[in-house]
This record gives sequence, structure tokens and C-alpha cells, in this order.
Amino acid sequence: MRRYRYRCTVCRTTSPVVHQLDDLAAEGAAHRQAIHAGHIPDEETAGQIDRLGRWYATLPPLSALHAHLADALSDLHDPKAMGHYWWATAGAALAIGTAAALCLTLITAAL
Ligand SMILES: [Zn+2]
Repeated sequence: MRRYRYRCTVCRTTSPVVHQLDDLAAEGAAHRQAIHAGHIPDEETAGQIDRLGRWYATLPPLSALHAHLADALSDLHDPKAMGHYWWATAGAALAIGTAAALCLTLITAAL
């Protein structure tokens, strides 16, 4: 399940989590219209977030990969909640470590 948030850096407020892109656009439009008379605040942020509330776009690539995997594993247990389960965090780290070790093994075998 995907999660999105809108943040206005002028008002320093963040919208509640929504699950559809249309709802995210509506959150931003409603805030701009109600608070800023339709003007677009500088540096506003909107996009997909992980279960910890972090924007994927602001995460380094390895952290974003870990967040995607941990989100997917956590969604298997409870798709509507926020936060990662400890076993999902450990499973994501294990999957990334296993993939890295497999790539290293393949490269070593090929040389
Ligand atoms: Zn605002």
C-alpha cells in the first residue's frame, strides 16, 4: 500500500497520510486555496513516504531500497499501519546483504 504526504514549508505543516495520488493533490490544493489564496508556497514537498513517514525522494539509494523492502514485508502483516516491524527491518537488511554477497560471489567466480 502506498502512502503520500503533502508538506508546506511556509506554514511548517504536514498533511495526514493519504493512500491515493488524487487525495494527495487534493490535500495540496485545499491547503494552498485555504491558507495561501491559491498561491504555491516555495519549497513545498509532496510525494510518496515510507512507513516511517520519510519521503523516499530524500533518502539515499540504499536506504530507499531498505525502506521499500521493509515496507513491503511490513505490509504483509498489516497494510494500513505505520512503522516497521523488527523482523521486516531485519529481513530487508538480510535480503540486501544476501544480494550483495551473491553479486560479489558471481564477480569473484567470473574473474
Ligand atoms: Zn502553507
